[in-house]
Order: sequence, then C-alpha cells, then structure tokens
Amino acid sequence: MKIPFDNSYFRLPAQMFTAQLPTPVNDPQIIATNDALATKLGIDISATDAVNIFAGNSIPEGAAPLAQAYAGHQFGNWNPQLGDGRAILLGEVIDADGIRRDIQLKGAGPTPFSRRGDGRAWLGPVMREYLVSEAMHAMGVPTTRALAAVTTGEPVYREEALPGAIITRVAQSHIRVGTFQFFAARGDIEALQALTDHVITRHYPEADGPAALLDLVIARYAKLIAKWMGLGFIHGVMNTDNVSIAGETIDYGPCAFMDDFHPDSVFSAIDQYGRYAYSNQPAIGAWNMAQFATALIPLMPDRDKAIEDFTAAVHRLPVTYEQAWLEVFGAKLGLSDPTEEDRTLIDDLLTLMTKDSADFTNVFAHMGQTTARDQFLDRDAFDAWDARRQARAAPDAAAMMANANPQIIPRNHRVEEAIIAGRGGDMAPFHALLAAVTQPYVYNADYARAPTTDERVTRTFCGT
Ligand code: AMP
Ligand code: MG
Repeated sequence: MKIPFDNSYFRLPAQMFTAQLPTPVNDPQIIATNDALATKLGIDISATDAVNIFAGNSIPEGAAPLAQAYAGHQFGNWNPQLGDGRAILLGEVIDADGIRRDIQLKGAGPTPFSRRGDGRAWLGPVMREYLVSEAMHAMGVPTTRALAAVTTGEPVYREEALPGAIITRVAQSHIRVGTFQFFAARGDIEALQALTDHVITRHYPEADGPAALLDLVIARYAKLIAKWMGLGFIHGVMNTDNVSIAGETIDYGPCAFMDDFHPDSVFSAIDQYGRYAYSNQPAIGAWNMAQFATALIPLMPDRDKAIEDFTAAVHRLPVTYEQAWLEVFGAKLGLSDPTEEDRTLIDDLLTLMTKDSADFTNVFAHMGQTTARDQFLDRDAFDAWDARRQARAAPDAAAMMANANPQIIPRNHRVEEAIIAGRGGDMAPFHALLAAVTQPYVYNADYARAPTTDERVTRTFCGT
C-alpha cells in the first residue's frame, strides 16, 4: 500500500510530540475499509499489506509515526498532561481537494502519554466511532472520518476481557484546544508560537495573527455546535482536549443522538451533573473558547488589551451560534431567510416535542407530510402549530426539508445491537447499519423506526 505522506507536524519543534511506533498485534483482521475515502486520499487500499498497516504491524514508507502532546480541561478540571495515550499519527497526506489530512491509528499501543492506560481500544468504541463519524459526514457535519477498522486478535481488559480493535482516523488535524493549553501552561512560547503559525497556515490562512485566528475558530465551532443541535446530537465529552481546532467533531466517546426529544438529555454515564447535556452544548462551547483565548494570550504584546479583545471575541460566540441555529432549524422547517419571529415558531415546536416526548429525527423527517402529526400525542396542538409553519414555508420548502432532515441516524439501540453482534463475531449488523446511515436521506423503514420503550438505550459509556 502506498500512502503519499507529507508530514508537517513532524517538522515542528521536538517538544510538541514524541516519535512513537505502534506496537504490533497478534492476528489482525479487517472489519471495514472506506474505499471512497482512500481514493480521495490517494491511497490504494486493496493492497495485501493493508491489514498490517491498519494494525500498526507494518509502517508504510514515508510515515513518521508520533504521539502528540496536549493538555485539557476534563469536566472543567485542569489536567496539564494528557496527550496521545493510545493514538499514533502515521503522517499526513494532501487529498484530492488539496486539503492536508492526518492519518492516525487509534488503539495502536502505549506511548509516553499513556499514564496508566494500555494504549488500546476495544471493538465497541471502534465500531461506534466508525458508524457515527461516517454518518455525521454523510449528514454534512464537519467531522473526523473512518478510513479503516481492524480487530487485533488480542483481548483488552476493562471490567472484563474484550476483543481489541484499532480504528484508522482521518482528520484535518488532531490539534485541539488542549494542544495550545499544553504549551501556554508551561510558558513554552516557542512551541506556542510554532503551533499557532502551523494552525494558521494549515487551517486558517486568512488569519493574520492570534486574534484573527481566535475569531475564526470561534465562528467554526459555533456553527458546528448548531449543526449538532439540528440533529439532536450530544457529543458527551466536550472537554477542551476533545475540541478540534479545525472545527471538526472529534473523539466520539459516549456520544448519542436523541430519540425522544428532551433538551436536558444526557447519555454519558460519567456526566453525572449534565455538564454536556444537549441544551448545555452552546454554553460549554463558549467556555471552551474562553480556554482557547486564554492559551493565546501569552503571544500578545499587550496583555490587558488582549484580555479585553479576546473577551469580546468569546462573547461573539453566542451571537454567531444563535444565527447559525436559526438557519439550521429554519431549513429543517422549510423557511427561507428565517426571522426572529421564526425563532418563536421553532421554540414552540420544540416545546410540543418535549411535552409529547416526540422522536427528534422522525418529527423533522415527516415534516410537511400528513404523517407528521402522528409523531405527537396532542395532534390538535401540532395541527395548530403546523398551520403557522405552512404560512411561513418557502415555495421550495419540501426540497429544503428533504435536504436538511435525515431519515436515518445511527440510533443508539441499533449501534448497541451492532456492537453486541460484533463482539460475538457477527459483523453483518454493523455493515447493514453503516450502509443505512451513510445514506441518511434515503428512507428505510427498518432503520427509521424509533425504539420501543424496551429497546431504548439511555446510557452510553466512554468504554475506552
Ligand atoms: P479520551 O477519553 O479518549 O478523549 O481520552 C482522554 C485521554 O486519556 C487521552 O489523553 C487519551 O490518550 C487517554 N486514554 C484514553 N484511553 C486510553 C488507554 N486505553 N490507554 C492509554 N491512554 C488512554
Ligand atoms: Mg480525547
């Protein structure tokens, strides 16, 4: 397999990473490869050594494997030393669109950042990340992607012995807010400046310095969160080490799409206080950007002025977010140029949905059809609301809504079902679900069906 590497991170100051080879595994087997993505990256995946490369057993020519240093706030608590504890960056390629992409193995063995961890992943989270990241991409959400997944033939020990697996992840970069925090906290201005220059060149060439960079990152992040909200997506671990500086959804852990709508929904078993609940995501987004702003301040010549300017920049996040949210939900209801009054229309729908525990995805998937009212218990209330929507609907509302409202999402209970089957060696449910969620606008009665009360999965686990 030939991968046309060009490794820019490896050329950055040495204290920003450690050169680190993956640790070989016993008996790797391919679970899935993403041939369309491979083609876009200029990689011929059909080669016989593909399984060994995706397992970390052989290192492709031109790779410069490394583990990145980063820090982060986890559930609000500062952790000065995280880093790639089980992920190894093989290198970067320039894809068919001219965009530089990282190729990273996650679960490829220990690194100096592993702390007490084993550097491995088990099959469940690998399958979840593969399914959800590819679904997000298909729904037009900026995200890391899945290039391949393999089983290792080795057990990993969590509360029990579980099958080990490795996912090959593709990202615009794996640089996080926490990467900036790592160097800012150490007072390492050389690395902080090099990182900032690297990020500007790589992701935001229009920025002329840290202040402009901050503005652009905030705008991308606000729009990303608005897209999550429009899909009923709950990331689950919006720690600053899980915030991509390129504005992609990254680190799919205990993430979930809501079935029945409630704004306070939390799925992650470790999120006891609902810090990362659905409705808290925009506020946490601002909190995370405040941490990014703080990390950039050492680069600014006038500290007091920088604090003032950066505070104002962070306060612009909710403004950008509210506008993006209105556009996202406006499109979901077929409203062109949604206005401030339409905000009330949208909020009123969400109130009805909350009251009736209506299925988030299916309410929008049926919008504009006679079946929409079937999603509600109080159908008269919905009809009254829908008359207001129709009065505001754009001439091409049906087409707008078809493009904005997925029919198929990776519902929790289906992801769980696929993982349970996969643990038992049956990958057929995984492949069937992957095929369905990567065509999210194509109706499929089986995968569109909301879970019954018995089927509902209300807890997700980091399960690292
Ligand atoms: P995550 O929860 O995957 O975002 O990881 C948070 C931090 O813990 C990162 O620094 C990871 O590299 C590290 N980590 C998570 N799981 C493991 C593991 N099994 N072995 C080593 N490090 C890990
Ligand atoms: Mg992480």
